[in-house]
Amino acid sequence: MSDGEYGGKGPAPARNAGYDEWLDALAEGEGYALVCPDGHGSLPPRRVCPECGTTDLPRESLPATGTVESYTVVHVPSPRFADDAPYVTAIVDVGPVRLTGVVRGVASEAAAVDVGDSVAVDVAERATDGEPLVVFRPTDGT
Ligand SMILES: [Zn+2]
Repeated sequence: MSDGEYGGKGPAPARNAGYDEWLDALAEGEGYALVCPDGHGSLPPRRVCPECGTTDLPRESLPATGTVESYTVVHVPSPRFADDAPYVTAIVDVGPVRLTGVVRGVASEAAAVDVGDSVAVDVAERATDGEPLVVFRPTDGT
């Protein structure tokens, strides 16, 4: 019997810890926001409420859908989105927080979404480099 080596790996490199973990949870349908006792919502990796400064930030589950607050059609992307263009970014009101993401699952960028539309919140890979990002998909019949 060998005692073996102690471990094989050092501590995991601190990637964008809080936010990546949050994206993973969102991808599994377990998205959450950090909501302080006064009801201010924020997202990891924040550790203090951006509104009132408290560090008491319990997790609150996010609804699966949100409402489009504004959107922008992007024809000239940043390099990280080079292969994704043209695409639509939207700011979506999801329970206690606003999420920024890319609209997917639409036939035409020109008529992708409208303010007030209901969209499902999801996570998908960016076409350019496969990095995960928040995406919104239009929901029918609302
Ligand atoms: Zn607060």
